[in-house]
Amino acid sequence: MFQNDYFTESELACRCCGKNYFKEETLKRLIRVRKRFAKPMIINSGYRCLVHNARLNATMTHATGQAVDVQVALGRAYRLIQIAQEEGFTGIGVKQKGQFKSRFLHLDDLEPILSERTRPTIWSY
Ligand SMILES: [Zn+2]
Ligand SMILES: [Zn+2]
Repeated sequence: MFQNDYFTESELACRCCGKNYFKEETLKRLIRVRKRFAKPMIINSGYRCLVHNARLNATMTHATGQAVDVQVALGRAYRLIQIAQEEGFTGIGVKQKGQFKSRFLHLDDLEPILSERTRPTIWSY
């Protein structure tokens, strides 16, 4: 992963093993979003290895290195969805129930052919 002023290697690496196959193009997109958002973006999950992904019983989006989950709520979540769409994130998952620290947005830029769902799309989880 290339050095940048906004996201660290460990923020985007797999939480279980530290491997990081986060895609460069997605990182560049994420940095564009972060610059416009102009606030810290707390990354809860970036790249996930296959083992970790299977343990979470999740779809493959994070294992492609093209997805992040950001801890964000209320007006900032509203704004982040808008910027993410404008910058070309095509998969948006919305988890906005309960305590603020457990509210997230999932953002990915999967191409339709690589995703289990079509793109662009939005869902709640
Ligand atoms: Zn792992
Ligand atoms: Zn996610």
